[in-house]
Amino acid sequence: MPVKRAEKTPMPVRDPEVRAHDFKEVNDGYTIFHAAFEAERCLRCQDPVCVEGCPVGIPIPDFIHAVAIGDMAGAARILRGANPLPAICGRVCPQETQCEERCSLGTRLVPVAIGHLERFVADWERTQAPAAPLRPTRPKKIAVIGSGPSGLVCAGELARLGYPVTVYEALHAPGGVLRYGIPEFRLPKAILDWEIGVLKGLGVEIVCNVVIGKTLPLDDLFSRLGYTVVFVGTGAGLPQFLGISGEDLNGVMSANEFLTRVNLMRAYDFPETDTPVNVGKRVAVIGAGNTAMDAARTALRMGAEEAMIVYRRSEKEMSARVEEYGHAIEEGVRFHWLTSPLEVVGSADGWVTGLRCQKMQLGEPDRSGRARPVPIPGEEVTIPLDNVVLAIGTTPNPLLTRTTSGLLTTKEGCLVADEETGRTPKPLVFAGGDAVTGAATVILAAGAGKRAAHAIDEALAARG
Ligand SMILES: Cc1cc2nc3c(=O)[nH]c(=O)nc-3n(C[C@H](O)[C@H](O)[C@H](O)COP(=O)(O)OP(=O)(O)OC[C@H]3O[C@@H](n4cnc5c(N)ncnc54)[C@H](O)[C@@H]3O)c2cc1C
Ligand code: SF4
Repeated sequence: MPVKRAEKTPMPVRDPEVRAHDFKEVNDGYTIFHAAFEAERCLRCQDPVCVEGCPVGIPIPDFIHAVAIGDMAGAARILRGANPLPAICGRVCPQETQCEERCSLGTRLVPVAIGHLERFVADWERTQAPAAPLRPTRPKKIAVIGSGPSGLVCAGELARLGYPVTVYEALHAPGGVLRYGIPEFRLPKAILDWEIGVLKGLGVEIVCNVVIGKTLPLDDLFSRLGYTVVFVGTGAGLPQFLGISGEDLNGVMSANEFLTRVNLMRAYDFPETDTPVNVGKRVAVIGAGNTAMDAARTALRMGAEEAMIVYRRSEKEMSARVEEYGHAIEEGVRFHWLTSPLEVVGSADGWVTGLRCQKMQLGEPDRSGRARPVPIPGEEVTIPLDNVVLAIGTTPNPLLTRTTSGLLTTKEGCLVADEETGRTPKPLVFAGGDAVTGAATVILAAGAGKRAAHAIDEALAARG
């Protein structure tokens, strides 16, 4: 189908002197000139299919056009209006399967680098003076449980609407997976801290070290602490295990434990910090999603001589971002495709020494639509190892639902909540993000938080 072009507003005449003065290098040596040249490739399609590919509906051609004409403040305003975590999403969103995959230019040429432009604009914004802090203007207090992207975005939107919002976080630092899961080399903590700082500037209060459902019951938020509405954004942090023999050996860890020890507890500084992590010479990570790539690349940085991915399907079926897979290859991570673990093998004193695996081939598609891995009879291998890290998925932690009446869960352990509004069956309790969908993505969690914030606002307006 031919691409329809919308009327373009005329480009202002460029004054390189002004640009060189106004725009410093802010993004890995890329200047506004690089960004503007990339932005000018955008066709400003009449039917901007890229926007359909964005889970939070960023008006992509509008912010890109603002970059093209050098209006960085305008670009930042447009971006932040649609997505309160642009510096994070510009780094970790899978644009290649979302907006960039849809970009009309991609059918013949290379799609516009929407993600890099988003990151560029957000990084420019970081160099500017912070906006004046906001103060709540409404009386009804709202509590948010969990400080991952769903909770942070929900809190930020509600604060922007004038509500006093408090985020309760179980860990000692806010950010959820953005802090304890995604490593520094992909998402620097300084970026996360800056985005959280912007939300605090909107009036969001964050209280750490409070496990709702354990140290403080959810119902006490209403009855004792006077909140009118609660949003649950507790994520899906409970790791799954394979259930094979040897999983209890020393040297076997879930990816969540491994990454949390390194990212949150700073095991790389042990003994300066309290939490060590045991990384031997040969580390195998089971699974082939983003978490698996992060764990394998982290193992290399923690001193492993060899880090490998063991996956029962093939490269084609892996769920990791292509970009992350590429980085893992560049860094020397090795891949055992079509290899399914049967048993973790250990020494007499209880330490991992290897992984016995079944070789597989691809069969008919299963319910997920992906080719089903089928064992090749008699083909087994044992890989000598010092550590096994399991990155085969996570589910929501049942702690809150077990201790709170009125919340329902699916058979997968996810909270039951309306997809559009986040309403749960418990009055005035809303929910969103991985806790509802199961493990997904940052932008989907952020989108759920944003929709719930607006549904909460409507619900409160209806109550008068
Ligand atoms: C290693 C790793 C890499 C990933 N890489 C990417 C990527 O590159 N791109 C991408 O888009 N997505 C990625 N994801 C997925 C993405 O990070 C998640 O989908 C997203 O963070 C979910 O957000 P959330 O707000 O629902 O939950 P979370 O980020 O899990 O946050 C939930 C928060 O709630 C807190 N909490 C839980 N229970 C309680 C309680 N009872 N009381 C108080 N606080 C509580 C938790 O401590 C946590 O801080 C990755 C995930 C992992 C694990
Ligand atoms: S980013 Fe791609 S799809 Fe979106 S308006 Fe520009 S050219 Fe069209």
